[in-house]
Amino acid sequence: SLTTRLPRAGETILGHKFFIGFGGKGANQCVQSARLGAKTSLICKVGKDSFGNDYVENLKKNGISTAFVGQTTDAATGTASIIVNSEGQNVIVIVPGANLLLDFEDLKRASDVICKAKVVVCQLEITPAVSLEALKMARASGAPALADLDPQFYSYSDIFCCNETEAEILTGIPVGNLEDAEKVGRMLLERGCKLVIVTLGAEGCMMISVEEPIPKHVPAGKVRAVDTTGAGDSFVGALAFYLAYYPKLAMEEMIRKSNCIASVSVQASGTQSSYPYRKDLPQDLF
Ligand code: ADP
Repeated sequence: SLTTRLPRAGETILGHKFFIGFGGKGANQCVQSARLGAKTSLICKVGKDSFGNDYVENLKKNGISTAFVGQTTDAATGTASIIVNSEGQNVIVIVPGANLLLDFEDLKRASDVICKAKVVVCQLEITPAVSLEALKMARASGAPALADLDPQFYSYSDIFCCNETEAEILTGIPVGNLEDAEKVGRMLLERGCKLVIVTLGAEGCMMISVEEPIPKHVPAGKVRAVDTTGAGDSFVGALAFYLAYYPKLAMEEMIRKSNCIASVSVQASGTQSSYPYRKDLPQDLF
């Protein structure tokens, strides 16, 4: 909801705009990957309610397999209610709902797709233990943040990707520039990561790996940003696409191309609505 100011406790105010969009990091990343031409499958749980039905419909419209999207009557579809005032400040209420009911049984049912996938991406928007189990089943991935994250998450991920905020939650190091990101990268390598990517908004990314322990800055192109929400998911979705379909590309090149795709997404408004399709991108990205 868009309002001029945020309401105080107990207060009712009039807003001037309301809209519903689809989200969840996992779905966003799937949508971006699918729009680049990847074969994708989302493993999640939604409610047997109108939000859940629309959610499944939206995935199908984007060509994503919904074979492992469960619908339950035991909880409502997960939601995030966001109120934004005219200064762009917001208050957000997240209700994970059905997502938290995704369990080991659901993973077992999806084990074929998890084990055969070229890339598995985890986002920590489900129960952490279930995310970790998926990583263990797959042993190939990228994932975002939680304080006191089980260290197994680091060692079981091939690629660990976080943004500046997530980097601070994970390491306690506030990230305001490249040097800070490098510190985060070194710390996460010490915790068992093999390759760390810290996304830096308009500055692109920092990458560091066990194999190349000298941090590298991969800048993003200069663009006029309109709305940067969901840029990180566009980046991760694009990276998953390159990992699966262009596995021989150098990591730096995959990141450079993913920056390029994410920087297109910030030039349009909304989250999934801003993610570009392969046909509309410069063809030298493929
Ligand atoms: P998140 O959306 O998780 O906060 P970031 O803001 O770090 O993530 O953005 C993720 C990626 O999106 C960046 O690494 C970059 O490739 C691209 N990006 C974000 N903001 C801009 C911008 N203003 N200009 C160009 N690219 C951007």
